[in-house]
Amino acid sequence: MLWVGTSWKMNGTLDFARDYATRLAAALADGAPAGVQPFVIPPATALATVRECLGPGTPVLLGVQNAHWEDAGAWTGEISVPQAAEAGATMIEIGHSERREFFAETDETVNLKVRSTLRHGLRPVLCVGESAEVFEASGSVDHVLGQVAAALDGVADPSPVVIAYEPIWAIGEHGREAHPADIAPVFAALADTWGGRVTAIVYGGSVNSGNILAILRVPGVEGLFVGRAAWTVEGYLRVLELASAAVPTRS
Ligand code: PEP
Repeated sequence: MLWVGTSWKMNGTLDFARDYATRLAAALADGAPAGVQPFVIPPATALATVRECLGPGTPVLLGVQNAHWEDAGAWTGEISVPQAAEAGATMIEIGHSERREFFAETDETVNLKVRSTLRHGLRPVLCVGESAEVFEASGSVDHVLGQVAAALDGVADPSPVVIAYEPIWAIGEHGREAHPADIAPVFAALADTWGGRVTAIVYGGSVNSGNILAILRVPGVEGLFVGRAAWTVEGYLRVLELASAAVPTRS
């Protein structure tokens, strides 16, 4: 099974969410494309709307982009894992590089959030990835393995976790597309250490319809985490179809 999801980041009005989710529901009325598990991570404010428009039988899993490790309390501006679950999330994105860079997220807080997510029976989408400097210095494998080890420290059963390897240099409008050779060593190392022990190890960073097949051929890649290319419903559906088409060709 390929896990193929998108985070909208801080984009989208409720009108956008309604339109996207309604058309996604219609396109997936007969189920998800073969071999693919879709997931969508809208802004938390749109979660209930997206859930409602997708409807009860949807194959699409929903998540939030962040949650606090405490269940409740004086944490102004935060939402907790139980609150996210009540609004329809079954997945919690944790440790995206933007949160690590701009919101002081550390390996320690990532670990606390992973543990809270698992404690409540939800699925962490654990984001890891190295900077351009670390990549240039050939430090990617050590850096990423270190981030995952820190995030899963003390976790007895990591099986619900989706690991999203997203090299920072490949993310967003200033990112450069990764060549398969750039990311293959990290996937080999992740597969060696965590393959079969977690739900999936997926790739994110400037994924688009032109590079999906090459990325999915990298050994160890078990799905995609997509930003811009899936910010229209047509774009996301194309990603899902291309991923599904790649399933039989994967070794
Ligand atoms: C991201 O920011 O996590 C991401 C994968 O974005 P994009 O696909 O737009 O590079």
